[in-house]
Amino acid sequence: MASPVRVRFAPSPTGYLHVGGARTALFNYLFARRHRGTFVLRIEDTDQDRNVEAALSGILDGLKWLGLPWDEGPEVGGPFGPYFQSERLPRYAEAAARLLAAGKVYRCFCDPEELKRKREGALARGEPPKYDRTCLRLSQEESVARVAKGEPFALRFLMPEGETSWEDEVRGTVTFQNGILDDLVILRSDQHPTYNFAAVVDDAAMEITHVLRGDDHISNTPRQIQLYAALGTSPPRFGHLPMILGPDGTRLSKRHGAVSVTAFRDDGILPAAMVNFLALLGWAFDGEREMFTMDELVDVFTLDRVSKNPAIFNYEKLDWMNGEYFRALPLSTRAAMVASYLKETGALPESAVADRGSLERAVAAVGDRMKRPRQFLEYAGYLYVDRVEPEAQPWAELVANPHAAARLRKLATVLSEVEPFEHDPIEKVVRGLASSEGVKAGEVIMPARIALTGKKVSPGIFDVMLLLGRERTAKRLRDAADRLNAQSPAPTA
Ligand code: GLU
Repeated sequence: MASPVRVRFAPSPTGYLHVGGARTALFNYLFARRHRGTFVLRIEDTDQDRNVEAALSGILDGLKWLGLPWDEGPEVGGPFGPYFQSERLPRYAEAAARLLAAGKVYRCFCDPEELKRKREGALARGEPPKYDRTCLRLSQEESVARVAKGEPFALRFLMPEGETSWEDEVRGTVTFQNGILDDLVILRSDQHPTYNFAAVVDDAAMEITHVLRGDDHISNTPRQIQLYAALGTSPPRFGHLPMILGPDGTRLSKRHGAVSVTAFRDDGILPAAMVNFLALLGWAFDGEREMFTMDELVDVFTLDRVSKNPAIFNYEKLDWMNGEYFRALPLSTRAAMVASYLKETGALPESAVADRGSLERAVAAVGDRMKRPRQFLEYAGYLYVDRVEPEAQPWAELVANPHAAARLRKLATVLSEVEPFEHDPIEKVVRGLASSEGVKAGEVIMPARIALTGKKVSPGIFDVMLLLGRERTAKRLRDAADRLNAQSPAPTA
């Protein structure tokens, strides 16, 4: 490549990093790393109404958590700063003045209220709501005289006639007729630039080579290309990433579930899983392989494999993928994550998880069933209660089983005597009981599972007994037998 790659992620500080923005940041990051280029973070904060400080941290935290360090930008600085648009206002004013002097923009004194009325009128008539160029017809003298009187004005770009085309890195040739593009405002009467203008001035000044962004910006691109031309600068290359849809095929939004990166983090999604999942939103390697670490992505990521078609944000797939990453973590790490989840949410009293050894044993027993820390209690919650409340359906099965109570009682007796109270001896007596009853082991195990955990699905039953310990195991078996006897008529014979 002729010039070193420089890309940027340019969020507006909205308070959180949306997964769509995170996908854009990731693709820019991967492209930069693959080409040994530079990944710039620029904050588009010219909207004065927002509290930038607070809104910024959500975005920076999200990028850091994903592992997308930027080479230039907030906190790290760089040779093309400042990286906050609010600190670059004189540059936009200067560029706008240059365009005014060259006759490429004109002053517009139209009252915003009146513009709004005109826009609504055009829409009502089914016409495109374009500015009608009232102020383009003002003479130079009149324009200057109105400035001298102190009338507020905006600067509008005189959109040239013709058409605008570019070779999009994702979509191929894209062409817009300039006739449908407005004479856009580049500088408002309060001297603040509009998005299209500030982005062009900055992308040029920061020597950005590739603009990779969501395709909701595609209609801004011809406007920006015309602005580059007016400024006498050649435009960067553009690549528009496909839209992200929810599972129902409408644009991904809060209606579908979490959309902020930090919400996924707080819900137990691992950064490696999130990155892997985001990479597949609109990009594929060979249509088969799905698991990629960040380093692997850097090695294989290319824009020609970015899809033109919308991507679907499949929450179930993210959950599955997280399971793959979670299971691969060492037991001690998984247990530590479960412990901090339990602590942060207050789901269990601190004393219950203070013993890291027994927590680790419980996490080991839950094993592959758990895809994120919050599922721990789903599979191990019965370890932390004094009395199990069985789920209705499994309990009804026990009630319907005329042998259940007696078998639970016999099991309690043999377990009280087994020595040592360890996995293999326990297994031996459970199987021994089943064969002396003349039934399959499951006929003893399933009632025991329901009595001990309240559920039909649990970690291995011998592990459950071990985790509960001899006393609690025997007590739960007897309690269940007592409750069964109280509910069903005693056998007559
Ligand atoms: N601030 C714009 C946004 O957040 C940036 C768009 C662009 O990348 O040019 O959508």
